[in-house]
Amino acid sequence: MKTNLLDFNLAQLTEHFAAMGEKTFRAKQVMHWMHQMGEDDFDAMTDIAKALRAKLLASAEVRVPSLMAAQEASDGTRKWLLDVGTGNGVETVFIPEDDRGTLCVSSQVGCALECKFCSTGRQGFNRNLSTAEIIGQLWWANKAMGVTPKNERVISNVVMMGMGEPLANFDNVVSALQIMLDDHAYGLSRRRVTLSTSGLVPQIDRLAAACPVALAVSLHAPNDAIRDEIVPINKKYPLSELMAACRRYLEFAPRDFITFEYVMLDGVNDRPEHARQLLQLVRDVPCKFNLIPFNPFPNSGYGRSSNNAIRAFREILQDAGRVVTVRKTRGDDIDAACGQLAGQVQDKTRRQEKWIRIAESGSE
Ligand code: SF4
Repeated sequence: MKTNLLDFNLAQLTEHFAAMGEKTFRAKQVMHWMHQMGEDDFDAMTDIAKALRAKLLASAEVRVPSLMAAQEASDGTRKWLLDVGTGNGVETVFIPEDDRGTLCVSSQVGCALECKFCSTGRQGFNRNLSTAEIIGQLWWANKAMGVTPKNERVISNVVMMGMGEPLANFDNVVSALQIMLDDHAYGLSRRRVTLSTSGLVPQIDRLAAACPVALAVSLHAPNDAIRDEIVPINKKYPLSELMAACRRYLEFAPRDFITFEYVMLDGVNDRPEHARQLLQLVRDVPCKFNLIPFNPFPNSGYGRSSNNAIRAFREILQDAGRVVTVRKTRGDDIDAACGQLAGQVQDKTRRQEKWIRIAESGSE
């Protein structure tokens, strides 16, 4: 089987070329072609010597996941469904905002962590995505979105918040992050790439050492009793350990803060006393909060907190001097809103009705 060069970060590609007896600067050239130019054909890489191109054609390939479908919502949100085999697809979502364009990237097919309010968690775990399948999401979206009239990339931010727990697929995710940050590839700044974890404490420490991108933590509860119930990994890594890991992480990125994500579940975690407990919990962690109105899905067993409850909760946090955002619900008409990413993937009938099939037309 041919080696997929999309699986390599720059260090790995450099090593690969060295092992082939080739000059190591070739790695930078090929990174540029693959990621900045969106090229998957070695013959089109015109500044690479013909002999090397022939060698690459025989032994390697740039294999991006194939595109099953693409869709655009009326608010400009876009979604791509990529084929990762075994009848499964992973979804990538682009969310346009006034001052940025954010791509939400998946790291696994399904997820093993079974957070109770999450439709992905309800599907169970299928497998980890390869580095090529992770970076392939950015590859496709970048190719589709291109650059602005000012020649800036439309995708300015990446959040690893799609399907899966990224830190449970550590090596592949870190390689993909390194490609995102690499000036020879996407050149995104470290603070514009955010990894969201449910709280795998040892891997948070490893990430700090390997690639300290911005960190978001799916907190969702102000105490262990509630978190044990809705985020089961908390039984293994309780809040005291998680908060200590957050503090350690910021030692590697001292001017940063942790973003705590908090899904607002009616009657579960949304009372004023929960907001006060939360302030106590994070008292010595530089942070901001992102409150997420829950998106109900069939048989979830949870409801969305009322607007009044969300407002009161937000005010308690703000009055204590914390920065709080409330996530806008985006892309509702294409099921791209948070927590719905995987919800429809296996519902092929509905997907066929709703999605624009582009495979036949062969164009984006
Ligand atoms: S919230 Fe994240 S970690 Fe929890 S089940 Fe869903 S995808 Fe997995």
